[in-house]
Amino acid sequence: MSENINPYEIALQQLKIATERLGLDQWIYEVLKHPKRSIVVSIPVKMDNGETRVFMGYRVQHIDALGPFKGGIRYHPKVDLDEVKALAMWMTWKCAVAGIPYGGAKGGIAVDANKLSMAELERLTRRYTSMIMDIIGPYRDVPAPDVNTDAQIMAWILDTYSQFKGYLVPEVVTGKPVYLGGSEVRSEATAMGVFYCTREALEDKSVKGKRIVIQGFGKVGWNAARILYDHGAKVIGVSDSKGGIMSQEGLNPYKVYEHKAKTGSVINFPGVKTITNEELLELECDVLIPAAIENTITKENAGNIKARIIVEGANGPTTPQADKILIEKGVKVVPDILANTGGVTVSYFEWVQNLHREHWTREEVLRKLETMMVRAFYNVKNLAEKNEVTMREAALMLGVGRVAEALKTLGLWP
Ligand code: NAD
Repeated sequence: MSENINPYEIALQQLKIATERLGLDQWIYEVLKHPKRSIVVSIPVKMDNGETRVFMGYRVQHIDALGPFKGGIRYHPKVDLDEVKALAMWMTWKCAVAGIPYGGAKGGIAVDANKLSMAELERLTRRYTSMIMDIIGPYRDVPAPDVNTDAQIMAWILDTYSQFKGYLVPEVVTGKPVYLGGSEVRSEATAMGVFYCTREALEDKSVKGKRIVIQGFGKVGWNAARILYDHGAKVIGVSDSKGGIMSQEGLNPYKVYEHKAKTGSVINFPGVKTITNEELLELECDVLIPAAIENTITKENAGNIKARIIVEGANGPTTPQADKILIEKGVKVVPDILANTGGVTVSYFEWVQNLHREHWTREEVLRKLETMMVRAFYNVKNLAEKNEVTMREAALMLGVGRVAEALKTLGLWP
């Protein structure tokens, strides 16, 4: 039978396991299962050719017991309500694991952004913003970039929101350009966090000479490749949606980036072997970093994975059945809700800087990020060892446990 890979079903299964391990009250489990608010909007956009097309947009806010909602906005043809609900729930646990005062949210539009012109993308983004306007805001819900969205899109959201308010509100989004109130390091923060987790997960705490394979060569994947390469790791394989490349001698990520900028993909990089995404995942390496989309490591390919360690840069890359296979094989997995919290952590720094009208230096941001990531890593690792569970279960126990404790103290009104 084929595996159920509906991400929301997976998120619910994970919540159930954590609830049982933590012995939570029934009412808390019931509340945590459901997002507090989900909105679905039909976004009409005038295309450059004069036609009007309507795109489906979503914003889901999970639980705000620990602070305002926070979460990325994704533009991808496969975006649907269940995916956004799962991603919002994972954001809640992620913020709690990272120790930052936010609740989880996520948004998205079902669109192939690569097929739109810049003008169409701008009209789509501004119209979507106007339609979710009432539920976002600096103390309500603060969006950020995710798959196929970037600093430019955040700037359009910021501008649209500010036009309605009548004054500039930089703290309504994070991941903005630095000159518009963005934080130093934000564009590479998730990858920086992936680097810290990779380093701490290795027995000798050094990435030097380690063979790394990265799936996805976008904001997270490319930056992780570059940072690891700069620290002496050997990046032997990378991929994007069109396929992958590999070289046992190691790739130079900067050169691969230039090639992708010119050709639109990492494939056919001169002098190295072009492979499929399946082959990439099965390469022999020290660390595999999935940094693309959900459900790329499944029961079909988990048995063939030869990495010793997996550090999940992407959200939900491993299905539950694949997870079981990896545990049996003794592969160490640093889970997404820990490994990719660098982005939301620096987003939180950006929000704090905006609220105080401050700008921190790169060194200051990196110092704070490393402290928080390393602390979160060992909080999870120690909990896993104490309870004899995997790091994924421990991270869920930590995240769900912190939110549950807050909910319990706040109580259920009325
Ligand atoms: P991005 O759009 O910048 O990059 C995504 C990359 O994945 C692209 O190179 C794309 O070609 C590739 N890709 C897409 N489908 C693929 C497939 N089936 N096989 C192989 N490659 C594929 O997105 P991003 O911001 O780098 O996000 C990547 C992942 O990291 C997502 O799961 C996202 O939710 C997660 N994440 C991102 C951030 C962030 O700060 N950007 C933070 C936390 C988690």
